[in-house]
Amino acid sequence: MAPTNPAPAPPDAPYWWQAAPRPVPSREAPPTAVDAVIVGSGLTGLNAALEIARGGRSVVVVEAQALGFGASTRNAGFVSRSFKHGFGTVEKKFGLAYALQLFGELDASVRAVERRIAEENIACFMNTNGRFLPCASEAHLAALLSDLDTQRKHMGFAFTPVSRSNVTRELGTDKYVGGAIVHGLGGLHPGLYHAGLLAAARRAGVAFVDNTPVLSISGQQGAFRVRTSRGEITCRDVVIGTNGYTHGLLPWLDRRLIPFDAFMIATGPLSPEAMARAIPGGKVTIDSNHNALFVRPSPDGTRVLFGGLTGSALANLPDKGRHLQRMLGTLIPSLAQAELDTVWTGKCAATFDLFPHMGCHDGIYFAAGYCFVGVPMGTYLGTKIGQAVLGRREAASLFADKSFRSMPFYNGRPWFVPLVTRYWQGLDARTPSGAIAA
Ligand SMILES: Cc1cc2nc3c(=O)[nH]c(=O)nc-3n(C[C@H](O)[C@H](O)[C@H](O)COP(=O)(O)OP(=O)(O)OC[C@H]3O[C@@H](n4cnc5c(N)ncnc54)[C@H](O)[C@@H]3O)c2cc1C
Repeated sequence: MAPTNPAPAPPDAPYWWQAAPRPVPSREAPPTAVDAVIVGSGLTGLNAALEIARGGRSVVVVEAQALGFGASTRNAGFVSRSFKHGFGTVEKKFGLAYALQLFGELDASVRAVERRIAEENIACFMNTNGRFLPCASEAHLAALLSDLDTQRKHMGFAFTPVSRSNVTRELGTDKYVGGAIVHGLGGLHPGLYHAGLLAAARRAGVAFVDNTPVLSISGQQGAFRVRTSRGEITCRDVVIGTNGYTHGLLPWLDRRLIPFDAFMIATGPLSPEAMARAIPGGKVTIDSNHNALFVRPSPDGTRVLFGGLTGSALANLPDKGRHLQRMLGTLIPSLAQAELDTVWTGKCAATFDLFPHMGCHDGIYFAAGYCFVGVPMGTYLGTKIGQAVLGRREAASLFADKSFRSMPFYNGRPWFVPLVTRYWQGLDARTPSGAIAA
């Protein structure tokens, strides 16, 4: 039985947990034997679990913390097919056929979110009213428009350029030189999306064990032993869905993922007039800085949610919140006096080639390294990895075929992330909007 009373929210709880609180701990004991154990209860884990359970197998999701503790309920809720590599770069490096397949799968990941929401009837404020991409410099703008043009030509992805003078129709700022609106993309409420998936997985017969870290995995495919803090589970298959929280279970995976922290704030409630001044276009917005600033209205249109300082050292979260509050006031001057309601953080994971990856290593399935597009990619690759466990042909993906490389001497401790972040901030400081983070 699913517990019904929410757990009390901790002070650093994400804004999203107000509408979608963490479920109370179930205290359910782990089963001793199942077909599949899923490690982690985020979008990857839930989508894999749903798929495997619907394939007729018994599944348990084991989560170290409260269900949905990770980034899946902490993100900005942007649903996009944006990627660290532009279409042109991928085409140049790997050829047109590859670029078409890659961007085809990115688009399929957005459609996978829409399909899950429709099939499971999840009320999570999904909208596709466009994604605004403002640019911090003329060079960024030229590169963006050229890449979007190539995507339109090859993939049919529609966009509208936004001139400098029209930026204020979308965002109450003069910090950008122009930008573009990509149509057919948008956002959702990540807490409610996750809660809907959790309910769907329970309906499909998936069992959940919370507050129970998986400590080790031994044995081999067909006969794994998963040792948890509350007993051992034997199973045929294991799926790791721990992304930015990956540590210590499969050293091979640790050496390929680069975890980093991301930060967000929510303002206090604002009047409809203040909201219209701050984000007149009402769209999810992410700028072109190397260390991007991202901003959106809350789904109920009463608050501004803002993120930045990605990859910087965690240090003191309240200080980080005040820093982001100052940055938001500099970016959108009408919000300079806006009250800071909530600050939170979560862990993402990048990879050395900046591609997400899925696969099977030593018989253990994984999907991870979403490089900030984990809402669609966690849904898509989580589903695919579930199909792979079932041995289905639909599991095929370009993200499974790519070789997944590490770096010599890298052991999963990303000491270089703050250095890269500082380098990016240095580059961004030369642009009017990037200088905000300084
Ligand atoms: C602030 C922020 C903003 C973001 N914005 C966006 C956005 O707008 N759009 C977008 O697409 N992506 C965004 N992302 C990224 C996205 O949220 C993630 O890529 C995605 O949620 C990853 O999902 P997941 O299920 O793989 O991992 P997670 O949701 O992080 O779940 C992993 C879970 O594994 C558990 N776990 C770890 N180790 C163990 C263990 N040993 N035993 C049991 N359980 C374990 C953890 O406790 C955790 O709950 C953002 C992330 C952050 C932090």
